[in-house]
Amino acid sequence: MSDAVEALKALLPPLAASRLQSLKLADGTATLVLDVAGLDRLERDRLEIAVKDALRTAPGVAEVRVAMTAEKKALKLIAVGSGKGGVGKSTLSANLAVAMARMGRKVGLVDADIYGPSQPRLLATEGRKPQATEKKLIPVASPWGVPMLSMGHLVEPGQAIAWRGPMAGNALGQLIDAEWGDAEILVIDLPPGTGDVQLTMLQRHKPAGAVIVSTPQDLALMDATRAMQLFETGGVPVIGLVENMAGYECPHCGEISDPFGTGGVEAAAGVMGQTFLGRIPLDLSIRIESDAGNPPAASDSPQGEVFAAIARRVLTWIDNR
Ligand code: ADP
Repeated sequence: MSDAVEALKALLPPLAASRLQSLKLADGTATLVLDVAGLDRLERDRLEIAVKDALRTAPGVAEVRVAMTAEKKALKLIAVGSGKGGVGKSTLSANLAVAMARMGRKVGLVDADIYGPSQPRLLATEGRKPQATEKKLIPVASPWGVPMLSMGHLVEPGQAIAWRGPMAGNALGQLIDAEWGDAEILVIDLPPGTGDVQLTMLQRHKPAGAVIVSTPQDLALMDATRAMQLFETGGVPVIGLVENMAGYECPHCGEISDPFGTGGVEAAAGVMGQTFLGRIPLDLSIRIESDAGNPPAASDSPQGEVFAAIARRVLTWIDNR
């Protein structure tokens, strides 16, 4: 895409940017196609005026034409859940979304882990505040091609801890029912556990499918089984299971050790008749890069390939629905 077109895109108001389908510049005429599905007449008129105001005085632009379409693909929600915290659910959610975006898919990410939102750190959007239309939040653009929303973008760290029940449910609803523009897939990093917040979310928003992540040891697996039952109760099909933190390769001697064992999740998936989606090794670089806001899935490293392989399996499932 030309620099001139990129420069024009950068001038667009956030709502227009999130709904932009195409932008061309020829002979001084900028022609935009915007997806206006779900906007009422007044909102469409305002959007057109805002776009014209933003681009009219840009260099090389003599005229601005705005075309509007309302063909919106259904947004498919993919929930990533775990029976308990600390097993790598957020790490997997972020990297699944980044891997899918690298495969050319339009994918957004919701950090529904309202009690411990970590996605702003994982995807380098800490401290950013989402803008909003009159009715909806506009996702924050991350450097990894994945628009995202997290409670961490709305409240100070620690503030949401006191939320329970309906308040938590409503907050979550706002993140999910945001302006996702032309996104086709929304990855949702669920709060850990199998309580009311999770069940309410499933019943209200009906994800197309769920990915369950677990560490290999028995106790974690029992929690994962509970998570699976939660999805079944909520009528959400389980896409498959992911094993995280298996087999630690010592960075000094190369010896593989298994602090949490290995293979337990694959065996459990087999017993439960579920698909095994892949195994992520316990790898110091995954933690270090993740903490620094560099998702491993954004690179062609072996760690990146592990997440890409899982993302491909999830996409195959989604595309065959
Ligand atoms: P959860 O969302 O289940 O609470 P996180 O994704 O936040 O878990 O992961 C917990 C911690 O473990 C984080 O510090 C994360 O960087 C680290 N971690 C997750 N997966 C791995 C892995 N495969 N190798 C090394 N560290 C990992």
